[in-house]
Amino acid sequence: MLVKGATPRPAAAAIEGLLKDLARDLADDQLITDPDLMAPYARDWSGAEPLMPDVVVRARRTEDVQAVLRAAQDNGVPVTPRGLGTGKSGGALPLFGGVVLSMERMRMVHEVRADDMLLVADAGAVTAQVMAAAESEGLFYPPDPNSLDICSIGGNVACNAGGPRALKYGVTKHYVLGLEVVLANGRRVELGKRTVKHVTGYDLAALIVGSEGTLGVITQVTLRLVPQPRAVHTALVAFASARTASVALTGVLTAGVVPRTLELLDRHALDAVRAKTPGRFPPDAGAVIILETDGPTDERAFEDLERAASVCLELGALDVQVAQDAVQREKIWAPRRLLSETLKESAEAKISEDVVVPRSHLPELLEAVERIGETHGVRVASYGHAGDGNLHVNVLFDKDQRAQADRAVQDLLQTTIGLGGTISGEHGIGLLKRDFLPWEQAAPVLAVQRHIKAALDPLNLLNPGKILPLGGAAS
Ligand SMILES: Cc1cc2nc3c(=O)[nH]c(=O)nc-3n(C[C@H](O)[C@H](O)[C@H](O)COP(=O)(O)OP(=O)(O)OC[C@H]3O[C@@H](n4cnc5c(N)ncnc54)[C@H](O)[C@@H]3O)c2cc1C
Repeated sequence: MLVKGATPRPAAAAIEGLLKDLARDLADDQLITDPDLMAPYARDWSGAEPLMPDVVVRARRTEDVQAVLRAAQDNGVPVTPRGLGTGKSGGALPLFGGVVLSMERMRMVHEVRADDMLLVADAGAVTAQVMAAAESEGLFYPPDPNSLDICSIGGNVACNAGGPRALKYGVTKHYVLGLEVVLANGRRVELGKRTVKHVTGYDLAALIVGSEGTLGVITQVTLRLVPQPRAVHTALVAFASARTASVALTGVLTAGVVPRTLELLDRHALDAVRAKTPGRFPPDAGAVIILETDGPTDERAFEDLERAASVCLELGALDVQVAQDAVQREKIWAPRRLLSETLKESAEAKISEDVVVPRSHLPELLEAVERIGETHGVRVASYGHAGDGNLHVNVLFDKDQRAQADRAVQDLLQTTIGLGGTISGEHGIGLLKRDFLPWEQAAPVLAVQRHIKAALDPLNLLNPGKILPLGGAAS
């Protein structure tokens, strides 16, 4: 991992002072300093090398978070907020040691208001738990990262998580009404409102969304809910190639149908999951799309599915399989859910990118991905939320091919930017993509972000070394 100009870890005396301060406010079982017990907090799902903290604190309430940030400031110790550690960009890893502040114990859903169509939950609540709470009142929280059973809602806000349903419903930021946040100086602030609209001052809640734990620690979220769709229909549409599939999905959208998902799996992704889910895909399929529609009635949802499927057939689809019930629907989705793990098992090493292009450039991106694999001599499998122009591109390689894999990734990121796209649609910049940010964002844009960071965290103690490249000038 490239860590240029890393500052040293905190001195032993600083950690000693911090622990002494924390012992005043927190119970013993909230503090972990045993290296064996801290080891899981040194990793996330990014595949980055582990980075050990000096201490892990498990907050139980907002006051605990305040105590940690005050003690950290007094002793000059960095703090890395952590949800449930499923991030894919190394954002939750303590680059410079110090405290990992885990939100895993703050996991209550406090309130679901059917009349105001909102929900209030602790930041550490598991996303699936938040969704279930909304559904228990006949409401719907749409953002559905594929990690929803193992990630936290605070982590989703911190990364502005998306998911397959973003095509129709948008991403996490579209559902954040308000946030309780603890700033680097330990002060608690409430940002946003419980109202649907508000234009009162800068939209600071929006600034926190996607800030990856660098501007404040989210302790509580107030989320907008929508009515629960009453019917869902799902189909698996097979194509000869990913290119044909990508043209067809644009055709579906321009025909005026907005499915809730248009998930693409390319040939290499299909090959990877075929062994685990035999007989699910036609043998001649070079790509598939998982097409899912929903609506207030069964007829409406099915009508949309039929229209979308017809457009796909007109534009070259080989086959459409429509799920007849929930069991068949799950059979269509199962290979997609297995992909991340299956690809990981299929190679000695994997780098997972999450690029997005304007949808009209998706065919070019898919062609470029094939070329990149051939040029750099590595296997590249792609899948993802292609309806949004968002592809998870996985570079699979043997350990001795690291340099080739890195070149393939850089080629991919530059190609994406050249097509008017972005290097992260969902996973964030964190640590692993930090040094590529200047490829996409101009110096004045980076400078504005450095000023914001300096204003909110003048001592640079909150998740330092993430998002913004190290050592850049502020203007
Ligand atoms: C199998 C798998 C599938 C995935 N699918 C998707 C997907 O479809 N869409 C998607 O968007 N992502 C996906 N992800 C990535 C990941 O799940 C999301 O980024 C998720 O939002 C991270 O939540 P977390 O609680 O695990 O956060 P963590 O990994 O713990 O932290 C991620 C970042 O958020 C910060 N953070 C966490 N909690 C807080 C807080 N309370 N306050 C301030 N900062 C905080 C951390 O400092 C870090 O920078 C997937 C991951 C896996 C492993």
